[in-house]
Amino acid sequence: MRIGRLLQGLVAAALVAPLGGCSEGPAVSARMEAPAASAARRLDLLAAQYVQLQLAIGKHEDGYIDAYYGPKAWATAAHSDPRDVPALRRAVARQRAALAELTLPLARDALLSRRLRFIDNMLVAADTRLRMMAGENLRFVDEARGLYAVEVRPRPLSAFDPVIAAIERLVPPARGSTATLAERVTALRNASNVPTARVRPFFEAAIAACRARTLAHITMPSDESFTLELVTGKTWGGYNYYQGGDHSLIQVNTDQPARLSRGLDLGCHEGYPGHHVLNTLIEVNLVKGRGWIEHSVQPLFSPQALLAEGSANYGIELAFPAHEKAAFETTTLAPLAGIDPALAQRNVALAALLEQLADVPTTIAQLFLDGEIGRMRAIELTQHYSLVDAARAAKSIAFAEQYRSYVINYSLGQMLVRRYVERVGGADPDKRWAAFAGLLSEPVLPSDLAP
Ligand SMILES: [Zn+2]
Repeated sequence: MRIGRLLQGLVAAALVAPLGGCSEGPAVSARMEAPAASAARRLDLLAAQYVQLQLAIGKHEDGYIDAYYGPKAWATAAHSDPRDVPALRRAVARQRAALAELTLPLARDALLSRRLRFIDNMLVAADTRLRMMAGENLRFVDEARGLYAVEVRPRPLSAFDPVIAAIERLVPPARGSTATLAERVTALRNASNVPTARVRPFFEAAIAACRARTLAHITMPSDESFTLELVTGKTWGGYNYYQGGDHSLIQVNTDQPARLSRGLDLGCHEGYPGHHVLNTLIEVNLVKGRGWIEHSVQPLFSPQALLAEGSANYGIELAFPAHEKAAFETTTLAPLAGIDPALAQRNVALAALLEQLADVPTTIAQLFLDGEIGRMRAIELTQHYSLVDAARAAKSIAFAEQYRSYVINYSLGQMLVRRYVERVGGADPDKRWAAFAGLLSEPVLPSDLAP
């Protein structure tokens, strides 16, 4: 768990216009009728209890609390008074019952109804995770529904065969070569590996470019900042640990060599307009702006994850539409990393096809975690369908073992966020950015993204 800076009072600082709703700032408005006003005050109280409950659940699992920057005393209390899993499940049920009692009194307030529904969905996820902590073995799609409030239908692997065939034609074997397609693709991609000595300046330049494009469209607090750290020995490629106070710690795992395309992918996903921007806007708009304390705690396995990973992935194509990403990589990042721009260019067409394999990890994770295939088969299938070498395939399966159905959030989340932004913003880039920024400033559930 990472405890950030303390919440420094509740300062009104809404930087981005909200999506809609009829309540303004403080939960209790003078114009509210008495039962609604009392229900709003009760909701504030339940939100505070909800945060303390999440912190107590976090005592049972390292990494469950992804970020927390609310009152320090609550974290201390969770530490000094541990409760067992059955007691925590009973507490979740009590909180959900108390929330249900507020549904009717708050029905005419769209914004507070949305607030209530968000906390309730987070409690459903918490209960699902507690069941898993107690040893319950859920099927992949049931686990995903419970934790992320979304229906997942993994595509059969055969659905990806046409993409694999297209890549076969793009990267044919050399005469007399017996190398597999995964080996040929890996060799081509490895030609654009960033030399170790240049990894830090490479990522710094990439993040700076993502930041500049984002700040042209989204207003961030003037003190926002991040720290970049290179680490090893992780199952993930990059991680954003939000610290509170508009600051992120961005870690890059260097177990595998970084490829040219990784720079903007990581810079946008972990930084701008991805996780760092989302977390900062949530703190500014919801926690400080509206006093919605429930957002000061971010449990990793929750419906928040779908918006977080989906917006972080979609943020790459929003900031760098396909041709602009390739152009920036070949003209700016390749020379900086000492990579031949001609080699980098060859990877562009390949990257577009590899994009179409983004759902592969979800399918393989489902087969593996539901016990339909073993680890060795999962690694083999990952090599074949994600076209990576054995080491990267093993990493991918290790990630599935550690984070389980969390893997759905990347490709499904990206698809849902893309459809939402393109529906609301149309083809106008400025309107797309505005729709995107609105999403990052509201308590959004996966069902809010549907038409
Ligand atoms: Zn992420």
